[in-house]
Amino acid sequence: MPTPESVLGYKPGADFHLANYEDSLAYFRKLAAASDRIKLVNVGKTTQGREFWIAFISDPANLARLDHYKEISRRLALARGVSEEQARALARETKPIIHIDGGLHASEVANHQHTIQLGYDLVANEGPEYQAIRQNLIVELWFSINPDGQSIVANWYRDNLGTPYEVSPLPALYQEYVGHDNNRDGYMLNMLETREITKATLETEPLVFYTQHQTAPFPGRIYLPPFADPISGNMHPLMLRWLSLIGMTIAQYLDDHGLTGSMHQETFDVWYPGYVDNIGNFRHTISFFTETALYRYATPHFYTVDEFPAARRGLGTEMLYSSPWKGGWWRLSDACRYMYEADMAVLGLAVRYREQMVYNKYRAARDTIEKFRKEPPFAYEIPRQQHDAPTAAVLIEKLMLNGIEASQSSSPDAWVIPMDQPFAGLVKELFEPQVYPELAQRPYDVTGWTLPYQMGVEVHAITSPLTSQYRGSLVPISQVAGLAAPFDRGSNASYRAINEILAAKGRVTFTGDEIGVSGIDKKKLAAILEENRLRAAPPKEEAKDAKPVQAARIGLYRPWVASIDEGWTRWILEQFEFPFTSLYNADIRAGHLRERFDAIVIPDIGERQILEGHRPGTIPERYAGGLGEEGTEELRSFVNDGGTLVTFNDASLYAINQFKLPVENALAGLTPEQFYCSGSLLRVHTEDAKNPLTAGLTADTAVMFEGGPAFKTKTDFKGKVLARYVKERSPLMSGYLAGPDRLQDQAAAVEADYGKGRIILLGFKPQWRGQSHAAYKFFFNAFYF
Ligand SMILES: [Zn+2]
Repeated sequence: MPTPESVLGYKPGADFHLANYEDSLAYFRKLAAASDRIKLVNVGKTTQGREFWIAFISDPANLARLDHYKEISRRLALARGVSEEQARALARETKPIIHIDGGLHASEVANHQHTIQLGYDLVANEGPEYQAIRQNLIVELWFSINPDGQSIVANWYRDNLGTPYEVSPLPALYQEYVGHDNNRDGYMLNMLETREITKATLETEPLVFYTQHQTAPFPGRIYLPPFADPISGNMHPLMLRWLSLIGMTIAQYLDDHGLTGSMHQETFDVWYPGYVDNIGNFRHTISFFTETALYRYATPHFYTVDEFPAARRGLGTEMLYSSPWKGGWWRLSDACRYMYEADMAVLGLAVRYREQMVYNKYRAARDTIEKFRKEPPFAYEIPRQQHDAPTAAVLIEKLMLNGIEASQSSSPDAWVIPMDQPFAGLVKELFEPQVYPELAQRPYDVTGWTLPYQMGVEVHAITSPLTSQYRGSLVPISQVAGLAAPFDRGSNASYRAINEILAAKGRVTFTGDEIGVSGIDKKKLAAILEENRLRAAPPKEEAKDAKPVQAARIGLYRPWVASIDEGWTRWILEQFEFPFTSLYNADIRAGHLRERFDAIVIPDIGERQILEGHRPGTIPERYAGGLGEEGTEELRSFVNDGGTLVTFNDASLYAINQFKLPVENALAGLTPEQFYCSGSLLRVHTEDAKNPLTAGLTADTAVMFEGGPAFKTKTDFKGKVLARYVKERSPLMSGYLAGPDRLQDQAAAVEADYGKGRIILLGFKPQWRGQSHAAYKFFFNAFYF
């Protein structure tokens, strides 16, 4: 059996060595070729085109019946048609599947390095602990859940090793579009990887889904469940009980093995359901992450107690930190060891409680079905005819990809989600407005995400029990068919269609929300509309004031301080087929921008970061610095000469300050007691129905407000307020908002005149994580003139 060392040339976790994904895969292929205790399975391709492989590890007899055990997992997970007695019998008989992975935050390198040794030992070790695992369980080992990132980070480190930049930050996102947000795409499934992980997980229905991370609260060595409050109320309580039990079991196991410093319940709540390693709880897979300590890459570091936070320098014992870490060397091999033993603790627990855990998974599904037979919402109805019907179809498709059952009703003409189904808790979690409890600590992520609001989709909760006649009229669907919405500016899909028509050299005109098309082959047009779920309006006289639309030549600012917000923006522009060019600092500083671009977008990046970028000396020279005054002056010339600058969220403050706009941030200088809102859905009202920049938007739109500015225009302001937080009431729709009066009557979106051009300031994230479809038009409209 090939050891990792014999293949890689070093022990995984050795100082200054990182295996990239190609190395990991090559190793696992050798291992699989030498043993019948491991089976490699391809789950698809990554965003950058790598082959995405996982391993199933167990006794050969169990692997031979893998499909059988998968089938049992699925039957128990859905609970339908399985009696109490059958469930008990299946729980006794089955070999449950346990998901262990090598993480997706690729700069947290022990995640993907430790799985190599783990894979080898699970296959080759003859110790009783390993034998028991192979006899009783099937380990679904994802040696990395971000293969691209593993290679990007390992290759970057190798390039810099031994230079002054050995531990310098990566100047790119470690997942093509989303970087660190790759674990926040759990329900939206925008990324290929998230879709593949979800698809494979719905096939195996693992009992446990365990993901490794490396951001332990210092000086803790590993952070474990129980997590901090608040916790979603839509999870089955048994999931939370098992989470706590697992966390404590790991801590006990680590102490038992001389590994001190386990910590619980600080910093990380799991209020946001979108974590890839949390969402499974709504499908009754016990899903969690742990956070082991990290220095940087494979470079070791020595810590003294003096570096500890003052409260922990005394090395005092605490209830949930009962074996304090005392400092000293911290190496990649230490992080790998903690992760490895934590995995072993979880597998050991699953061996011991196998039968009970399997039964509880069934029990949670059965309880959920019964619960929503007795209490509302009994179903959700989504009308097929609405403001932006193609986006409503996208919402239904997202649910189905998440394992949710959907139906079609003919009267009313609607999609229906009956709630007496096993994963109904997830639907409620995504559809209801979030009411965040009193603020005890800073929320770790956003506080509100209600998808119907974010996507601008009309959804009705049915609050009385479904009649048998209604239920009988529902036709289950596995895909959305037959939708053809009006081709107007209400639908986001229309923008993709417009871009395709323009790319085919067709002529497009706008008259208010109406779209006219000419100069394109009829068949070609029909194909474009059909594929976008649209139908052409009956042909009529072109309005007299109809103006042909020109597509803006778009530039998207891309800093070397890798910006997740830039990545999401880039992804959405690609999805909607807006042609654009990425602009790095040097491209902007090189000037002549107006000759090449009509619109330039700066995503949500702070002013200082835009101006200064990476500090020189901290990263190889070509990635150091920001736009500086030189680049900023080029942007001023660009707008002066008639260009459009669009700034998202905090980048708006850069524009206000650097262009000396007569606009101020109404929230500047407020304390968190006076105003606090980090990640909530707020209602904005569009000011002028005729303004082309807000065409297609509904009068009220939900926007994701995440610590951004609100605008107050000064007396010498020239331009237009595009959208405003209304004066009369709190704008909060979902999440948490302290100090709503500070926002009321302030502007949320502004078009400021500047020279011959304009600057569009958006005090929110109009493209948040590829979820806020309702707000996309706030920037899409700026791309035509
Ligand atoms: Zn992480």
